[in-house]
Amino acid sequence: MTPQARYDAVVVGAGFAGLYMLHRLRGLGLSVRVFETGDGVGGTWYWNRYPGARCDVESMQYSYSFSPELEQEWEWTERYPSQPEILRYLEHVADRFDLRRDIRFGTRVTRAAYDETEHVWRVETDRGDRVAARHLVTAVGCLSAARVPDFPGAASFRGPSHHTGRWPHEGVDLTGLRVAVIGTGSSGIQSIPIIAEQAAHVTVFQRTPNYSVPAWNRPLEPEYQSWVKANYPGLRRAMRESHTGLLDPGNPGSALEAGDEERAREFEARWAKGGVTFLGAYGDIGISSEANEHAAEFVRAKIREIVADPEVAEKLSPRNHPLGTKRICVDTGYYATFNRPDVTLVDVREDPIVEITPTGVRTAAAEHPADVIVYATGYDAMTGPLLAIDITGKGGLSLRRKWEAGPRTYLGLMTAGFPNLFTVTGPGSPSVLSNMIVSIEQHVEWIADCVARLRAGGVAAIDADPLAEDAWMAHVNEIAGQTLFVRADSWYLGANIPGKPRVFMPYVGGVGVYREKCDQVAAAGYEGFVLSS
Ligand code: NAP
Repeated sequence: MTPQARYDAVVVGAGFAGLYMLHRLRGLGLSVRVFETGDGVGGTWYWNRYPGARCDVESMQYSYSFSPELEQEWEWTERYPSQPEILRYLEHVADRFDLRRDIRFGTRVTRAAYDETEHVWRVETDRGDRVAARHLVTAVGCLSAARVPDFPGAASFRGPSHHTGRWPHEGVDLTGLRVAVIGTGSSGIQSIPIIAEQAAHVTVFQRTPNYSVPAWNRPLEPEYQSWVKANYPGLRRAMRESHTGLLDPGNPGSALEAGDEERAREFEARWAKGGVTFLGAYGDIGISSEANEHAAEFVRAKIREIVADPEVAEKLSPRNHPLGTKRICVDTGYYATFNRPDVTLVDVREDPIVEITPTGVRTAAAEHPADVIVYATGYDAMTGPLLAIDITGKGGLSLRRKWEAGPRTYLGLMTAGFPNLFTVTGPGSPSVLSNMIVSIEQHVEWIADCVARLRAGGVAAIDADPLAEDAWMAHVNEIAGQTLFVRADSWYLGANIPGKPRVFMPYVGGVGVYREKCDQVAAAGYEGFVLSS
């Protein structure tokens, strides 16, 4: 590659978003270079190889809709797809659409600076690439900047330690070992039951108990698969117009208006069905504390039913945040794992981690020996992966500086002062509150249409109008403030990262409403954007 290589577009990341972005832009006849840190495609599904890694959106819904042939030819095998199966799917997509030839793997974008005179982005990588492109699209994922808390003594630990999101590709044999797992979010909750089957002993360090609903994962029934395939166009339309991008639209009724029996029936039915749509039991679970408490107490009662030791059951019962305000978890045998004699639960609010020692984890009350440490400690969500790149826009404005008090975008698609920079599922869009594939496709298609129209009209640059951005941010904050989301110390609010500004990052208005808004903006000649020739 020459130092001056020029492309029409540079895309950062080759997960679900980057692959489709490449396909769309290439379809417009653009020259595109994709840079990907991993040595293969897949993004999240390339990195997250921890035991039990599986999506909590059903297979038939967690797939691209843009190609009817792809939809028909791919055979999912389970209700919820496992990480290896999703990775195989994305590898198939990369081959089927001949995407790999434009992707430079094993290469991290380190810097991107907007050149105002030429209206191009100058992009640099850790492998010494220097390229220029009119359009820069970040498809870096919302949960890709893995975070290991800074425990004193961590470097002194003699055994291996692994973050769930950076799991060794060759796997880790935990047979007969003492394993410390720190963190009980989705990754911890999925991996702990499987780790417990292999290990001699598991010590789980829990800071916040989470609400988890059973997955009841099973092989996909061929009849169901055929039915979905026969009805895909209508089903996909329903998903696009829905609130969450899922097929289950949820019950708009009120938990407060339902009687005790009716509520119990509804919750039982949703528990028996399994999965995240438990949240859709009533329309007011997300906005009324009282309604939410009914659902929360139902889950706590299930925990008491499953977990034999009442003290352990109580420790596992979430009480400091409403249900659904931290991402609800979907598990296979999580609570029952605590009935095993070889699994110990440590509540680190009661008994904090003091340090990691060469041989284990020391809390205020005890030393917990471990041969391996698993950090299921989450991510610097949404902004982390973007701010990891040194991005500078007009007038040398740095994105890190601009977002010091929290991310600011117009529609989660662009941020003022950074022309021609698009952020797929950026903060201010539904992204992590939705079926990611639905949101990714909507953004990719909107961006591709926009680029095509700019090129056709001889427009050199598009930028968000700061006033439109202010208004969008005010709207994002206002509607988040009407929900219970703001009551939890969640990663949605950046609360898991010390010092991160407390701003609710995703847009809670729903994917259907949001899509309409984006389409209206485009139809009105990119209202709220500034176009320059
Ligand atoms: P997470 O939800 O952020 O959970 C991290 C866990 O580590 C939390 O229990 C957290 O406690 C704990 N923790 C963090 N710092 C700690 C510290 N210093 N001391 C003790 N505990 C600490 O991360 P995740 O489980 O990787 O999941 C992130 C998101 O990825 C999920 O919410 C979901 O959106 C997605 N995901 C989805 C799936 C799926 O599809 N099934 C699977 C995995 C991940 P606090 O709660 O107190 O902060």
